[in-house]
Amino acid sequence: MLTPSEMKDHLHRLAREGNFIEGIYNYCDRWCEHCSFTSRCLNFKSSKDAPDADSPDLFEYLSNVFEATMLMINEKMEELGIDPAEIAAMETPEEPDPRDHPLHKKAYNAAFETHKWLEKHKPAERIHDVSTLVLSEKNMHFAQAVEAIYWYNFFVSAKIYRALIPDDIHDRGEIQTDQNGSAKIALIALDRLIGAWSVVMENMNDHEDEILPFLITLAEIRRQAEITFPLAKQFLRPGFDD
Ligand code: SF4
Repeated sequence: MLTPSEMKDHLHRLAREGNFIEGIYNYCDRWCEHCSFTSRCLNFKSSKDAPDADSPDLFEYLSNVFEATMLMINEKMEELGIDPAEIAAMETPEEPDPRDHPLHKKAYNAAFETHKWLEKHKPAERIHDVSTLVLSEKNMHFAQAVEAIYWYNFFVSAKIYRALIPDDIHDRGEIQTDQNGSAKIALIALDRLIGAWSVVMENMNDHEDEILPFLITLAEIRRQAEITFPLAKQFLRPGFDD
């Protein structure tokens, strides 16, 4: 396994040599299997060396990634003439905690409610109930919708949380801010979740009474997110929107 210092050099080399789109991985949905930009994404390329989630080497690898990242940050600060001691001495202003924001609370609670429902009813098992070796087109859509729900369920509240972390320029009406970018990918994920739940409801109409409230809650979260981040849709995600 590469040491933190070797990892840092490896990343620098990759970034220099590859034809990567800067920051593309910050506002994507992290679903690399379905992404057409893998060859232009530094994050994808660098994570190819990561051990599997069940590998005993995973924690050592993550610790090395952390140290390599700190080395890069320190290098950058030195380059910019920033003294780390000055930063440590700076007073951090009191900021509202995004977890207390009603939008985050709603998205977070909805994700856990959904998770409970998925655990109880296991819609993925129905795919196998009704399919033979070849999935019919209808079952294929159902299978894709279930997969999308599992993928995006917790993703939305995580991105809303990030979008609610205040940055200095948000109030000045800037569009290309981390807040707007995070809110935009949350809105995209919400659209996909709503679409996916509609397909699941169609295929599990014996559970329509339970699924319909999920759809209503997601539509409310979506509306609330649009109001909270009115400029989010104008944000241009590197690679995806330009
Ligand atoms: S940009 Fe594509 S390849 Fe890169 S992390 Fe996001 S989904 Fe994965």
